[in-house]
Amino acid sequence: MTGITIALSKGRIFEETLPLLNAAGITTPEDPETSRKLILPTNRADVRLIIVRASDVPTYVQYGAADMGVAGKDVLNEHGGAGLYQPLDLNIACCRMMVAVRNDFDYESAVRQGARLRVATKYVQTARDHFAAKGVHVDLIKLYGSMELAPLVGLSDAIVDLVSSGGTLKANNLKAVEHIADISSRLVVNQAALKLKHAAIQPMLDAFALAIRK
Ligand code: ATP
Ligand code: MG
Repeated sequence: MTGITIALSKGRIFEETLPLLNAAGITTPEDPETSRKLILPTNRADVRLIIVRASDVPTYVQYGAADMGVAGKDVLNEHGGAGLYQPLDLNIACCRMMVAVRNDFDYESAVRQGARLRVATKYVQTARDHFAAKGVHVDLIKLYGSMELAPLVGLSDAIVDLVSSGGTLKANNLKAVEHIADISSRLVVNQAALKLKHAAIQPMLDAFALAIRK
């Protein structure tokens, strides 16, 4: 493939990346929310989009199946970033990685007493790094979604999850007790593609950089 393949996930990443693509002169006639196609053409014969799970974007780009893509910092932290350039923070899909517990759980005193905490999360690597840096002993329980449920039914003492408005925590009688990181989505580029397809990729990077909301 001599053209450029861009990996995106459906939903907020696609919606918030579209204006940046448009700024680079790239438009697509297909809407991934209604189309069942996984490969979407664009107005440019040498550029196509592929639709993958948010957490799979770094993998497609790492192996060169996509030349570039858009992935949340949360996803990149879990992936590790091998084989990827991360030239731009796109300042989209912004949220925060937080530790949350039940409203009636005294997190501070549990930590102070050196209690071993059970933590449920989709973000095992992020959670492991965070609690190791604090010197808190944790048993991590891997989940794939709806982390908010875990403390409510006694699966865990705490969760590590993304929070934007805090509405979901509130609706489930949970409270955020620690801020781990600010999260936004990054442009990721395959390291070999950046060199081999520099003439096609660099103008896109320049256009994205100009179009990023500050
Ligand atoms: P999947 O639905 O395939 O399990 P996902 O839930 O991670 O994956 P999205 O919900 O589209 O997929 O999230 C994509 C990215 O958007 C996340 O990796 C994260 O960086 C960011 N994100 C997640 N939740 C929010 C939110 N509530 N507000 C803003 N950005 C968010
Ligand atoms: Mg989601």
